[in-house]
Amino acid sequence: MKSLRLLGIALVTWQLAAQHSASDANAEPDQKLVSEIHSGNELMTNLEYLSDLLGPRLTGSETLRRANEWTAQKFREYGAENVHQEPWKLGHAWARVRAEGRIVSPAEHRLTLASYGWTAGTKGAIRGRVVYVNASKPPELEPFKGKLQGAIVILYEPRELEAPVNPLLVPYDEPIMGTNVPKPPIHFGFYAKLYQFLTEQRAGAILMASDKKYGLLNMFALGALGTRGKNFFTVAGEEFGIAPTPTAFVAWEDYNLIWRLLRRGSVEIELNIQNSYSEKPAEVYNTVAEIKGAERPEEVVILGAHLDSWDLGTGATDDGTGVAAVLEAARALLKTGVKPKRTIRFVLFTGEEQGLLGSRAYVKSHETELPKISGALMHDSGTGKVVSLDLEGDYAAHEVMDQVAAPMHELGLLELSLRTGYDGDDVAFYDAGVPGFIALQDPLDYSQTHHSQADTFDRVRKDDLEQGAQVLALWAYNVAQLPSLLPRMPPPAPTTASATR
Ligand SMILES: [Zn+2]
Repeated sequence: MKSLRLLGIALVTWQLAAQHSASDANAEPDQKLVSEIHSGNELMTNLEYLSDLLGPRLTGSETLRRANEWTAQKFREYGAENVHQEPWKLGHAWARVRAEGRIVSPAEHRLTLASYGWTAGTKGAIRGRVVYVNASKPPELEPFKGKLQGAIVILYEPRELEAPVNPLLVPYDEPIMGTNVPKPPIHFGFYAKLYQFLTEQRAGAILMASDKKYGLLNMFALGALGTRGKNFFTVAGEEFGIAPTPTAFVAWEDYNLIWRLLRRGSVEIELNIQNSYSEKPAEVYNTVAEIKGAERPEEVVILGAHLDSWDLGTGATDDGTGVAAVLEAARALLKTGVKPKRTIRFVLFTGEEQGLLGSRAYVKSHETELPKISGALMHDSGTGKVVSLDLEGDYAAHEVMDQVAAPMHELGLLELSLRTGYDGDDVAFYDAGVPGFIALQDPLDYSQTHHSQADTFDRVRKDDLEQGAQVLALWAYNVAQLPSLLPRMPPPAPTTASATR
């Protein structure tokens, strides 16, 4: 047995050596980057500041603005060039003020709840009976006409929660995490109609179940529900407006309780949800910094993460960890003095949680530069170790990415994945024809903590984050050194997805 194992180890070593020979010139700088990040990283100090001293960074908020400035200052401190803020416009800034709720009959129960993002509040405290609107296509709404005024509406049966899954085992085109998408899934096109119907019928409020246990809430922006960040509710005549019917997440256990009571008879709930929002569009910024390429400065490799977060926790792992990893990759690339041939650009996007708004705005305003952007890699799946890179179905870049990733196997990177369907800022690039990838990470308890009250600094795993920063730095450097830009995918055939918009 032992000799077989040794033979196996010898084979693997030989394979690694063979893969390495292609990128021998990068071996020394790669090693320098790995050691610098291991011995001199500022990951935890930066992340603690971002999470605890700045706090939650809701898109359009003053805290996010401060985080823009703070990260820019860090990039400058590390010696990056061309550090600046790139503005884009958000329909409305939005903030929660209060959210209280209780079941008043048949028995009194306090509810754990939080308003859905970018929705309106109630007019003071409201009381209404719970109605289950059991519909998954327009004709099924008919029986509810004229019966929903002031009602507290629920839209689906409670369901069992799934355990976190290994992202490598998820089939293509399936989301990694169970989100609040009900089962059976309601088609997105119908969701928009359903919401419009409930608003027309003057429903009092909508309650959604959090898909996390132990009282943890979930959070999304109502206008951003949909697939691949492309579909938005058009509410009040504007894209990404404030949804007029108050909508809230209640704890999974509370939703189950409401359901059980409803099976026995009538249930009455009192809600008081207050939010504030700006009438005018808010100016929001992506933070950008660069290391100019020594040979082809006009050609660019992008490392990205999103600076904005939800506001129930502090966004420590969504996506504070990504921000810290990008900052650290920048620090190490500058500190080691490795001279990339192409420009490495660091972009901290905003508006990701509202449907990739900042990265889409970025791609739009850099339209003429896109042919010179080799590729973009995001770190945005929590604190877990990077186990693979998700190429978002970009088979054109697969072979060259295998070469780029070869030296990273020593960091624990497994085979690359061609899975699609993850809604990260990389998709904004992918959709514009630029290779856009995302780090696939060990999920740990991310499905429970992400977007919840528990997305806090104490979730962060130092060693895994260090490995993430090493993967980012090596990827950026090695892509910047390639003989040519990453190959492009042929333009996609028109799909029905665009018709649902
Ligand atoms: Zn995120």
